[in-house]
Amino acid sequence: MQDELIWGCSKDGRFTIKTATSLARNLKEMKRQEHQASCSGDSDGRWARLWKASATPRAKNLCWRACRDALPTRVNLYKRGIETDVFCPVCGAEYETPSHIFLDCDFATDFWRKSPFRLCTNSRRQRDFGAWCHEMLSVLDADQSGLLITLIWGLWALRNRWVFEGKKESVGISLGRFVDCWCRYAAARETQRVQLKGKGTGAVKWIPPQRDACKANVDASIGRERRRGVGAVV
Ligand SMILES: [Zn+2]
Repeated sequence: MQDELIWGCSKDGRFTIKTATSLARNLKEMKRQEHQASCSGDSDGRWARLWKASATPRAKNLCWRACRDALPTRVNLYKRGIETDVFCPVCGAEYETPSHIFLDCDFATDFWRKSPFRLCTNSRRQRDFGAWCHEMLSVLDADQSGLLITLIWGLWALRNRWVFEGKKESVGISLGRFVDCWCRYAAARETQRVQLKGKGTGAVKWIPPQRDACKANVDASIGRERRRGVGAVV
């Protein structure tokens, strides 16, 4: 299997200036939000778990906004005088809030039941999506949290494609795509982490010479007052 460079901020994994600009903007916003979160009290580190998770900044940002009820849901748009209908455009049964979108809507329950987490989310009881998310993140490690956050982002994207573009995609196939996308991102991030760790120590692995061959290990330095030194070991 050959190494592959993946740009995690575009759909096809290719680098573009547009997605890089968007990433820079997102990172700046995330730093601002992290600072805001730390100032507004994060004594139990629940936001820290979200920011440290192995997921793209875009997915973490979406999850953070969903937890804070800062998404353009119909209820929020109604509060701003933009929308007149507050009911879910998918099932029409309940108000469109983050907990309905991500947990209680039939679309969401089907999504989570088929996901690798095999969750049952349709308890139909009043609850806060942020509290549910923090509860989940508190029992998952960084990789599992990253997958959960990626799937929250995927659910939102899938639902929006259905609602706004009329494209109803298979939940099973889409889940496979999201999980694959997360695996590639996590692998690329781990590779980058290992490379940075190697660079940090400056360590270079010594390779022994081949048979019937000599190897000269050399080093040179320039000190103060233009003093130069060269050393060699054969
Ligand atoms: Zn619904």
